[in-house]
Amino acid sequence: MTTQDKINVFLEIVHQVKRLDPVNVRKWFDELVLVQFDGGLLEIGCPDEASAQFLQDNCLAGFTQSAQNITGHLVSVKFSVSRSQLSETYDDLSQGSLKLHPNYTFENFIVGPCNRLAQASCLAVSQSPGEAYNPLFLYGNDGLGKTHLLHAVCHRIREKLLNASILFLSCEEFVNRFIRAIEQGKLDDFQRRMRTVDILIIDDIQFLQEREQSQEEFFHTFNALYNNQKQIMLAANCAPGELPSLEEALINRFKWGLVARLDAPGYETRTAIVQKKAHLRGLSISEEIAGYIARKVKSNVRELEGALTIIYATAKASDSQITLELAQQALGDKDVIDERHISIIEISNAVTKYFDVRLADLQSKNRSQNIALPRQICMYLARNLTIHSLEEIGGYFGRYDQATVLDASDWIDNLRQTEPKMNSLIQEVTKQITQDEQNINIAENASFSLKLRIEIAEFVDHEKVADSIIKVCRALNAYHIACGGNGLIIDDWETYVPEEQLAEKF
Ligand code: ADP
Ligand code: MG
Repeated sequence: MTTQDKINVFLEIVHQVKRLDPVNVRKWFDELVLVQFDGGLLEIGCPDEASAQFLQDNCLAGFTQSAQNITGHLVSVKFSVSRSQLSETYDDLSQGSLKLHPNYTFENFIVGPCNRLAQASCLAVSQSPGEAYNPLFLYGNDGLGKTHLLHAVCHRIREKLLNASILFLSCEEFVNRFIRAIEQGKLDDFQRRMRTVDILIIDDIQFLQEREQSQEEFFHTFNALYNNQKQIMLAANCAPGELPSLEEALINRFKWGLVARLDAPGYETRTAIVQKKAHLRGLSISEEIAGYIARKVKSNVRELEGALTIIYATAKASDSQITLELAQQALGDKDVIDERHISIIEISNAVTKYFDVRLADLQSKNRSQNIALPRQICMYLARNLTIHSLEEIGGYFGRYDQATVLDASDWIDNLRQTEPKMNSLIQEVTKQITQDEQNINIAENASFSLKLRIEIAEFVDHEKVADSIIKVCRALNAYHIACGGNGLIIDDWETYVPEEQLAEKF
């Protein structure tokens, strides 16, 4: 395997672990690097001791399994704090040790309507730091190119202004350095270091939330740099105003310069990105395949890259060319696997258990917060994890219409982006759903996962008929039923009601 092959396989392994074990995924997973991959040993470099220990305790089996799945060989996995050439971690540029990602340049950044303002403002900042926009605040969902643009600014400044001192830190690094400085009684050094740079770049600034002392320290750093017309660049996964646990004075300052949003790229931009990424990996793929991938993966550029890696790994494993059929097989199967196992009943089971509420309450019109939120979460998960239509989902969770399901689902989606707690809650419930052995057994048994759909459109008064069916089913302890617009769904009904018994009742 060439080095690039090894890196691709490594990225694919990390991607698979993220997908199969979302609860254990941490923000710094993106900072993991490949140290070595030789003789059946995969050594993964972690940002620090704590993350290496975390992986050793929680993710060793996941990495080992994924490595075996992808390479087809037994691989022994080791976590260390070593760094490789491709480290994406942030360090002190002025000390010459920042390892900028070599591909995160302006040249490799595809511009479209979704990111034009962000790209143009970064370019302007790299041309005249401290003058164009100060501070420059980039925000957008994960995987839309914020870190890429920050690296691009550093590349460009480093080319042009050799003497400029740049400090590029992840927010966590800022906080950790601050804590270390206090512990070691070296706060003065820390402050001098932070406040005398020409350009301060902090990525993922949302992590400053709920860290009051660090916020205060950053506030003073900000003021000192700003007053000296030094450039400040920040990136976050949401707008300044959507960082509620940050001090208002800080939020206001974030808006003093330019706030630029990155949106999910449209089809054309996605296609161009796929082609660019393929090119960077030395692959040539046709426009048709690039278009296919772009249609398949819509929300996030990182996932677009993941799709490309899966296709690449599939081609490599079968030693074949990348054709449209191969791409379809590589990505298509993935969806089938995702959808096959999960039924609406597994979702409602996991959510009712998590919130300690009754399914009957979720299926009622009760709009109190402690019932409405779990119901909204159910709708969101059902929309994303099952093959049911909006109408069916609305019907199942208490005869709500399609618009309500859509609103609920978007609302939860939004909360996931802005509130880390909601994100981990969803991850935990999703894990419950996918890991509950009993559920998986039921889902895997085709006869149980079959949904019985009784079309009752021909009944004159179908609402009334549906009601009486529901009553009968309830009497038989078959709670998992729902009335859709023109039909009735009994989900996994064989589990609860023997067919003859139900027939008898009618
Ligand atoms: P964020 O920091 O917003 O979470 P990143 O900057 O880490 O996202 O981007 C994730 C991946 O997507 C990176 O590999 C990056 O190169 C790529 N990417 C995102 N947007 C673009 C783009 N417009 N053109 C090329 N690559 C992009
Ligand atoms: Mg980032």
